[in-house]
Amino acid sequence: MTGIRMVIGQELAAAQSGKTFEVINPATEQAHARVPEAGPEDVDRAVRAARRAFDSGPWRKMSPADRGLLMFRLADRIEAHREELARLDTEDMGKPYVHAKQHDVSSALAFLRFYAGFCDKIRGSQIPCGPDKHVYTIREPVGVVAGIVPWNFPLVIAMQKLAPALACGNTVVLKPAEQSPRSALALAELCLETGFPEGVVNAVSGGGETGAALAAHPLVDKISFTGSTEVGKKIMHAAADHIRKVTLELGGKTANIIFPDADLEAALASCLLTSCYNSGQICTTGSRLLLHPEIHDRFLDALLARLRTLKVGDPMEEDTKMGPLVSKEQYDRVTHYIEIGKQNNLRFYTGGFRAKPLDRGYYVDPLIFDHVPVDARVAQEEIFGPVISTIDFRDEDEAVAYANATSYGLATAIWTRDLSRAHRLAAAMQSGFVWVNCNHYWVAQIPYEGHRQSGLGADMGVEAVESYTRLKSTIVNLDPAPHPWAG
Ligand code: ADP
Repeated sequence: MTGIRMVIGQELAAAQSGKTFEVINPATEQAHARVPEAGPEDVDRAVRAARRAFDSGPWRKMSPADRGLLMFRLADRIEAHREELARLDTEDMGKPYVHAKQHDVSSALAFLRFYAGFCDKIRGSQIPCGPDKHVYTIREPVGVVAGIVPWNFPLVIAMQKLAPALACGNTVVLKPAEQSPRSALALAELCLETGFPEGVVNAVSGGGETGAALAAHPLVDKISFTGSTEVGKKIMHAAADHIRKVTLELGGKTANIIFPDADLEAALASCLLTSCYNSGQICTTGSRLLLHPEIHDRFLDALLARLRTLKVGDPMEEDTKMGPLVSKEQYDRVTHYIEIGKQNNLRFYTGGFRAKPLDRGYYVDPLIFDHVPVDARVAQEEIFGPVISTIDFRDEDEAVAYANATSYGLATAIWTRDLSRAHRLAAAMQSGFVWVNCNHYWVAQIPYEGHRQSGLGADMGVEAVESYTRLKSTIVNLDPAPHPWAG
């Protein structure tokens, strides 16, 4: 397993043009690997390999239980390569190695095993239409699935697309992000080693142009995309040209709402997690902290005290809580938003603790803007870094209005001991996830569907089966008499 070759059909492939690109380690700012840069001709080869595998390969003839067994075997192989896979993601995008090893690989395995168990449980239904008709539905695989993956959870999100697609009997072309391509390439290699038939799992590396070529390819039947809302719109246009299925997991601006009756200790720990885990580079990062005036000062002081002990540093060191941001581009974006907040005269506080000076790497310390107007840019736009804005609210109505006051609708967190209030607010939130007294809880069993400009369709849960299959209704006539109109 190398993670530096593409997988096209049975082949570990270079780009036909011979082009490669460098992968930069954001902790050192140094290139540490070169991977192929797929042109349209490589994308075409990969899609055709997936097409052939779907249309005429052994995959379609394999029993669902055997498909599941292969997926379970893949899980064992991933387990055996846990440390290497974690290292690939840490080196490529800067997340702490301990988190990659313990959380990301475990999460990917949980997805894979959840859907492996699903292969032989995907059913249609029988529809009662009277004694003269026998009517049933089946769920068929859609065909070739293009999985376009971002850099924040490279292995996990690649698996989020791969596992349900395979469980439903599809073939797949993965396109990881240019910043963090190696774990998805390695994953596709592991599929080959596990014995997946030729062409069932392919992976091509490259940037936006490679992704666009894949999204536009006429032989792709479904696109599953996770990334920015801006690119999501382009993907939807590409899908429209061929009337193909699309699943979009896009941006967010999560409100983390703390009522005075909440368990403040628990809320505090969770607030730290939701603002700084993965250096705040998560679409559900609790970037808007709604604080009731009764607890504002106390909560903020305690949060700052905790933030000031949060170790920012080398992601390979075991006690590091926050590594660098993924890239120079992301560093510029986050620091640009920090400048915007400062120019708007917002009061701010910084946290983070550096055990030693960090003279290289795209590190940004956690930062809180305080008493931010709900319509300020830093409270409206997705920053994707460890930058949070506190927003004051007086009552439930204001909490709901402010939480819903962005174009996104991904997740909301509510902290209260009043269960009736929690359910009232959960119903009023315009978001796909509502966490009550927790944050960042996503597991394979729970469908994840962004509302408004945060997405379309579900990638997880039993519901993903719907988006990776299409429905066929068969109507069998049992009545030999001709139709009255014709008779
Ligand atoms: P981010 O802003 O988090 O970098 P992007 O939406 O730019 O997210 O990228 C997410 C994924 O989409 C990456 O794999 C990237 O290469 C790919 N991508 C970028 N532009 C396009 C495009 N026009 N068509 C298809 N994929 C794209």
